[in-house]
Amino acid sequence: TSKYEIHEHDVLIIGAGGAGLRAAIEALSQGVRVGIVCKSLLGKAHTVMAEGGIAAAMANVDTSDDWRAHFRDTMRGGKFLNNWRMAQLHAHEAPERVRELEQWGALFDRTENGDILQRAFGGHTFKRLCHVGDRTGLEMIRTLQDRGVHMGIDVYMECTVTRLLKDGGRIAGAFGYWREQGRFVVFRAKSVVICTGGIGKAWKITSNSWEYTGDGMALAYEAGADLMDMEFVQFHPTGMVWPPGVQGILVTEAVRGEGGILRNKNGERFMERYDPKKLELSTRDVVARSIYTEVREDRGTEHGGAFLDISHKPADYVKRKLPSMYHQFLELADVDITREPMEVGPTCHYMMGGIRVDAETAQTSIPGLFAAGEAAAGLHGANRLGGNSLSDLLVFGRRAGLAAAEHARGSETPTIDSSHIEATVGQMLAPFERLDGEGPYAIHSDLQATMQSLVGIFRCEEDLRRALLEIETLKERAARVRVEGSRLFNPGWHLVWDLHSMLTIAEAVTRSALARRESRGAHSRIDYPALDDAWGKKHNVVVRNAGTMTLIEAPVLEMPDELRQLLAEDSGAK
Ligand code: FAD
Repeated sequence: TSKYEIHEHDVLIIGAGGAGLRAAIEALSQGVRVGIVCKSLLGKAHTVMAEGGIAAAMANVDTSDDWRAHFRDTMRGGKFLNNWRMAQLHAHEAPERVRELEQWGALFDRTENGDILQRAFGGHTFKRLCHVGDRTGLEMIRTLQDRGVHMGIDVYMECTVTRLLKDGGRIAGAFGYWREQGRFVVFRAKSVVICTGGIGKAWKITSNSWEYTGDGMALAYEAGADLMDMEFVQFHPTGMVWPPGVQGILVTEAVRGEGGILRNKNGERFMERYDPKKLELSTRDVVARSIYTEVREDRGTEHGGAFLDISHKPADYVKRKLPSMYHQFLELADVDITREPMEVGPTCHYMMGGIRVDAETAQTSIPGLFAAGEAAAGLHGANRLGGNSLSDLLVFGRRAGLAAAEHARGSETPTIDSSHIEATVGQMLAPFERLDGEGPYAIHSDLQATMQSLVGIFRCEEDLRRALLEIETLKERAARVRVEGSRLFNPGWHLVWDLHSMLTIAEAVTRSALARRESRGAHSRIDYPALDDAWGKKHNVVVRNAGTMTLIEAPVLEMPDELRQLLAEDSGAK
């Protein structure tokens, strides 16, 4: 290891979005040495892009709200596949985490009484989303970053982790490289927390940015940790569809939360047919499928979407409540949303599945390895409600940071096995040495096309089997990938490793989607269109690295009676 630059920490956090920063703050407050690594500049994580808000049952606007109602909504939204304990902890602790954020300097929109204002969102019974216009994530990341940096986190920016290091069965640190210079770097740590976010870049149309290639899930899988619920990929109903260069960019659900109406090309408010009760504020899986069906049945807009209209609201209200959306459409599509409708369609947005963790501590099956935020599975089950991610980051980021610090305090400094590092270095440098073989870009775009057309909103056995064959071929092409130039500022070389992660995750998603022979939440099988409660509600699909990718049907955790009753209580129970 002495060949490479080395950094020592008690707790190493991979990923500097909301989950990573909240974990870092908690670990620091326990008095341990904390480092945080991120692929881009600090502050540029996905979290900063979050628009609509943070869900927390504060009951500031709807006084009947409480954690029980939030728990119930989350479980129903997730079609009861959620880890009930995570859903309970999340609903319980979210209000405290939001108040804490406020104490640390976050400025939320206010009610007339000066409380934090809350807005309506799909699947939430009450007005529950604390927000800052449509720029909530920016305020959240700014607040967490200020606090974390002041407390003394060591930050390693523009650095990609490519391998987790182990000492026997337990975690020993991570290996990666500086993106600018291509130099290798070793982090020795007693605990590692994975907070690397989602996987959207494996699909063609996505709201996700270049960073979201499923690295953390692939790192954990390769180190021997389980993945779970990988078949549940959320397609957000409303991404931009026109012009082509901006396809997929998110149109926040807050547009519908503030009264936006969806119509097809005939002017029909089509949600009346799909969910007459909740209309536009139905859950995301339902609205995405409805738009997709309208387009497929030839009732879509000119560019293959639906119309989303908020122009019936006063112009100054729209500009105040949705300032980013107003500018986004004016600048990117030349559409003034205070006067005309937007054109929208589904976009790959969020990963419900991820690394399997313990509810209380966020620890994976590997001692010392933790995961939180979008990279972890469990809280959202088969479908996430809007706003439940930002609260997830705070609640489970904090829990992961705490448990990681405690684990580090009770552990000896691990030994790093340099043969693991040398094997990774060999693999990373091989693309420079090949004399033939293709570059990574075409492989990536073929993967995106495969996932988009065969593992999208509607799935069937035939498509999924074809997708698996395609992924096999893409893996073979990726094994012969060739990169020109040197390690200096080389985006093609960066993509090679991202591709490695995306292919692993794409395979896990496709295999899990094949295994779940029912339709539940975000997973819709044309060949198995109904819920199969006898099996579906009782099993999570777990992906395990047993030399080859192996699937296990794991029984869903038993829920205590008092929570079961809580779910049955409401007359609107599904
Ligand atoms: P991220 O914020 O995604 O951060 C991941 C971090 O990991 C980054 O720092 C990245 O650089 C780093 N990383 C990744 N791979 C590596 C690697 N190999 N090595 C080193 N570092 C790595 N949710 C809500 O609840 N409410 C909303 O209003 C909302 N709006 C959204 C709007 C948009 C446009 C999008 C895309 C998402 C939105 N979401 C919303 C979802 C939510 O923002 C994300 O799920 C959440 O921010 C994920 O946070 P995270 O901390 O898990 O990861």
